[in-house]
Amino acid sequence: MKKLIGIMMTATLLSACADTPKTTDNFDYTVEQFADLEILRYRVPGFENLSLQQKKLVYYLTEAALQGRDILFDQNGKWNLAIRRTLEAIYTEYEGDRDNAEFKALEKYLKQVWFANGIHHHYSTDKFTPEFSQAYFESAVRSLPAAALPLKEEGNVDELLGDICPVIFNPDTLCKRVNQEAGTDLIATSACNYYDGVTQAEAEAFYDAMKVPGDTMPISYGLNSRLVKRDGRLIEQVYRLGGRYSEAIEKIIYWLDKAAEVAENDHQREVISTLSDYYRSGDLKTFDQYAVEWVTDHSQVDFVNGFTEVYGDPIGLKGSWESIVNFKDIEASHRTEIISANAQWFENNSPIDTAFKKEEVKGVSAKVITAAILAGDCYPSTPIGINLPNADWIRHIHGSKSVTIENITSAYDKAAQGNGFGEEFIWSDKERKLINEYGFLVDNLHTDLHECLGHGSGKLLPGTSPDALRSYSSALEETRADLFALYYLADDKMVELGLLPNKEAYKAEYYRYMMNGLMTQLMRIVPGKDIEESHMRNRQLIARWILEKGADDKVLEIKTRDGKRYVVVNDYDKMRTLIGELLAEVQRIKSTGDYEAGKALVENYGVKVDRDLHAEVLERYGKLNIKPYKGFVNPVYTAVTDANGEITDVTVAYDEGYAEQMLRYSTDYSHLPTYND
Ligand code: ZN
Repeated sequence: MKKLIGIMMTATLLSACADTPKTTDNFDYTVEQFADLEILRYRVPGFENLSLQQKKLVYYLTEAALQGRDILFDQNGKWNLAIRRTLEAIYTEYEGDRDNAEFKALEKYLKQVWFANGIHHHYSTDKFTPEFSQAYFESAVRSLPAAALPLKEEGNVDELLGDICPVIFNPDTLCKRVNQEAGTDLIATSACNYYDGVTQAEAEAFYDAMKVPGDTMPISYGLNSRLVKRDGRLIEQVYRLGGRYSEAIEKIIYWLDKAAEVAENDHQREVISTLSDYYRSGDLKTFDQYAVEWVTDHSQVDFVNGFTEVYGDPIGLKGSWESIVNFKDIEASHRTEIISANAQWFENNSPIDTAFKKEEVKGVSAKVITAAILAGDCYPSTPIGINLPNADWIRHIHGSKSVTIENITSAYDKAAQGNGFGEEFIWSDKERKLINEYGFLVDNLHTDLHECLGHGSGKLLPGTSPDALRSYSSALEETRADLFALYYLADDKMVELGLLPNKEAYKAEYYRYMMNGLMTQLMRIVPGKDIEESHMRNRQLIARWILEKGADDKVLEIKTRDGKRYVVVNDYDKMRTLIGELLAEVQRIKSTGDYEAGKALVENYGVKVDRDLHAEVLERYGKLNIKPYKGFVNPVYTAVTDANGEITDVTVAYDEGYAEQMLRYSTDYSHLPTYND
C-alpha cells in the first residue's frame, strides 16, 4: 500500500514574498513544468556517509531498479512501447522544423507519456489528448529512416501507423486505463494490459477457482501474470525468466545477483537471492517466502523491487512493476521507532470495537528512509510512504514494514515555498501560522501513523473474506489508515511521547486535511468528472462525512467571504470525536466485510463532486502558477573504478534534465520487444 502525496506539503508554502529565494540550501529542486505537471529533483543526503560496501549495494540495486521500466509501460497498455518508441524516434531524429506548434505539441505529449509510463494520465487514467494533428504525426513518421522506427515487419510503416494512430488520436479507443465505474465489465472497459480477450466474469471465475477453501496462507493469485484467452482457453502468461518480460527480468536478476554479493548481512543476502529465485521461476509461493524474509530484514540499505501494487488492475489482482532503493535515515527514524514501540498501546486505545482489535500487534516496523532511486510505478510520480507486504496473512503473522520517504517530502516542501497557495485558500492568519509552524512536522507524522499503525491495525473477523469490499476496498482501507492517523494526532500521547511539541500542533493537519478533502484536491479533477482515485475518495469521504455529521454543532463549515469559499474549523475537539466515530464504523465495515455499508459510505461521500465549488477551485487555482501533479528525476550514480575494474567509490550527481534522463533510460534500460503478444 502506498501513501500518495496530498495536494501539497504544507510547512513553508506560505511565505508570501514573491522574490523570496526558493530554497535556503542552494539546491535547485525544480526542473521544468509542462501540461499539469511539475518535475522536481530530490537530494540523497547521507549517501556519502554510507560504507563502500553499502554504496555498491545501492548502486547494484539501482541498476536492478532501472531495468524494469519497459515492463510497466507494457503493463499500462499494449501499444505504449510502440508509441513511446515512435515518439522518441521523431523527437531525436526529425529533421523538420522543431520550433513550430505541432512539434512543440508532440514534445509535450511525449513528456506526458514518459511521465505516465504510457498514454493514459498517471492519476486520472484518462487517455491524453494530443494537440498535434494526425496528418502531422504521419508525415513526421514517414520522414524518418525505417530503421529508426519500431516496425513489426521490415519497411512496413503503414502497418505501424495503422496500429497506433487510432490509439493516439481516436478519443473512443482505449480511452481509460483503469475503469472503476460499477455496472460495466471493468476489464473490457479498461485499457491496461493485464488481460487480453477475457471478460471480468471469466477472470474472476478463473481466480476464484484457484482458491483453496480454508487456506490461511493464500498466495496472491494472479499477481505476476497476464491472463489471456487463446483458442477459447484461459492462459496465464507468467512474468518470469523465460516467460513474459523475460528480457527485462534477465537484467534485473543479473543486478540482483551482484547486489547479493555485497549484501550487508546473510539475512539480506537471503532476501535478495530469494527474490532472484522468484524472478526465475515466477512461483508466487517463493514470492511469499521472499516477502516474509524481507519484512524481517532490518539492514540499513533496503529496497522494493517487483510486481507489487494492484491499483492498475480494475479488479485488483495484478501487480504493477516498481522499485525503490533506499537507506534508513537513522536520526529521523527515532520518531517512527517511538511509534512502533507503542504500537500495542495505540491498538488497545483505538476507538474501535474490541472484537476488531488485534490482541497482539506484531512486528510493526517503521522507519524514515532516504530514497536513492525511484523506478517503475514509483517514477516519476512517487509515493511519500509505503507499507508492505500487501498479503494480509503475512502482515498478520510477520508484520509489515512501513516507511516515510523524507527526502521526497522535503523536496515537495522546499519546492512549494512561496507559491501563493496558502494566501488563496486558507481562511485566516491563525491557520496559516499553525501550518507554517507545524505543517511539515504533522504531515510527516500523519504519514508515519498512517503507514506504521493505520494499515496494520484491526483484524478481520473469522470467516470474513479479504476481498469482501471488492472495488471499494482500496478507498476504505485508505480511509481507515487516515482516520487512525488523524485520531491519534490529537491524542495527549503524542505530546507525552515527545512526537509533538504541544496540543496545538495537530490542528495544522486537521485544518489542512479538511480544506484539502472538501475543496483544494478538486483541482486535480477535470470539469464534469467524479472522483475515482482511492486516496482522493478517502479524503473527501472523511471531510464530507464530518461536514454533515458535525453540521448541527458547526464543527466544520464552508464559509463565503468576498465571493470566495473557505473551509473553517470551529471545533477541533468535536472533530476528533467524529473522526473516532467514523474510524469505528469503517473498521466494522472492514472487519465484518459489510459491502453494502462500505459502498454507501464511498458513493455518498467520496465520489460525487460539487460542480459549483469545483469550478471555483479550478478558477482560483488557475491564477496561481502551481501544477497539480509533481514528479521527480532521479540522481545519476556513477561507479568509480580502479585499474582492475574494482569499484572504489560511487558518486551521485543531480544535473540530469528530464528529457535527457528519459532518453537515456530508453537507450540503456530498454530491452523488451515492442510487441509482446
Ligand atoms: Zn495507505
